Amino acid sequence: MRGVSSKSEQFTESVIRGMTRLCEQHGGINLAQGFPDFPAPAEIKAAAKRAIDDDFNQYAVTWGVRAFREAIADKVQRYNGIACNPETDVTVTCGSTEAMIAALLAVVNPGDEIVIFEPFYENYGPDAVISGATPVYVSLRPPEFTFDPAELRAACSRRTKAIIVNTPHNPSGHVVDRRELETIAALCSEYDCIAITDEIYEYILYDGRQHVSLASLPGMRERTITIGGLSKTYSITGWRLAYAVASSDLTAAIRKMHDFLTVGAPHPLQQAGVQALRLPDTYYRQLAAGYAERRTVLADALKGVGFRIYPPQGAYYIIADISDLLARLGLRDDVEFCNWLVSEIGVAAVPGSSFYRQAELGRNLVRFAFCKRIETLREAARRLTRLPRVQPVSSGDGTVAR
Ligand code: PLP
Repeated sequence: MRGVSSKSEQFTESVIRGMTRLCEQHGGINLAQGFPDFPAPAEIKAAAKRAIDDDFNQYAVTWGVRAFREAIADKVQRYNGIACNPETDVTVTCGSTEAMIAALLAVVNPGDEIVIFEPFYENYGPDAVISGATPVYVSLRPPEFTFDPAELRAACSRRTKAIIVNTPHNPSGHVVDRRELETIAALCSEYDCIAITDEIYEYILYDGRQHVSLASLPGMRERTITIGGLSKTYSITGWRLAYAVASSDLTAAIRKMHDFLTVGAPHPLQQAGVQALRLPDTYYRQLAAGYAERRTVLADALKGVGFRIYPPQGAYYIIADISDLLARLGLRDDVEFCNWLVSEIGVAAVPGSSFYRQAELGRNLVRFAFCKRIETLREAARRLTRLPRVQPVSSGDGTVAR
């Protein structure tokens, strides 16, 4: 069509958000998109209301309200182990979504490559197109969803500008451990490139796992743009609050991109964000414990009706293998399966292929989100029992061992 850019033709609308619309049409339970259906903490909602009443209603300084940047810098030093100056190293953005594209626009030149691990959070593909970077994909292989260091090395070259690292990982739930981060750090140094980390699920961890930030490794502070956000930690995905932390040089470039993309994140919500970052440690422990319980409810429901699942180590998604179900239902692939599941059973999930550049790799997979009330998950479980019965899964308990 005349008038439409070639960039806009290189990607489709979000499969995940499209599935949410389909779910609404069918009155389904939305286990597709990763937003909670339970309330945000009362104290931060009250703080947002107060901030509006107190007339924090005009533009804030483009890179973020000072008190919010100070709270972020404090948290990043304490929790992530990254030295951070709130005056020069922090940019507050409209969600991690904006932080990622602002970061890429700040560092990518024509001809630059960026390394993306696949399966990947679906925004990274369009982010590469928009920023003009050439994506180079490296596989995360089930059941562990870890990478082969040799494959990562082969993907790196003098053209590599950045390696994108998402931990805990969406969709697999893999928590990237220190050894894997050391491999990435060594390659960043060898190829003189940077890392951009997406750590939005940093507090949602299971079975005693610890979050490690790449920027806290020796030599990586200057080479890493660390993205964190409030959407998932405080169940406020609609507030659009996040930040990028980086060296002052990188931050200066990110701030320019951010300024001309959005001017700034919502001012009253940044004021309330200060309260959020001041919540006590018990809040974060309860958050993780609540998600551990939800993980069990959904995992048991899925295994009980014949899905083979890859139990997540962090984040709030479960990847399930549908090979047996496809055969039993006479369906062709993940997309047909998800359409059938939402229209016939009333539960929405995301087709696995939307997390891969090579769609075939995800044809037998679907992703379920469990950031929902226990009652919602139990109702989804009840609906799922209407699936035709499949043979007991071959691995015994329905879990693919990691
Ligand atoms: N990064 C990952 C890995 C995600 O899963 C999501 C949302 O699902 C986002 C970023 C979006 O975050 P935000 O709401 O901060 O834009």
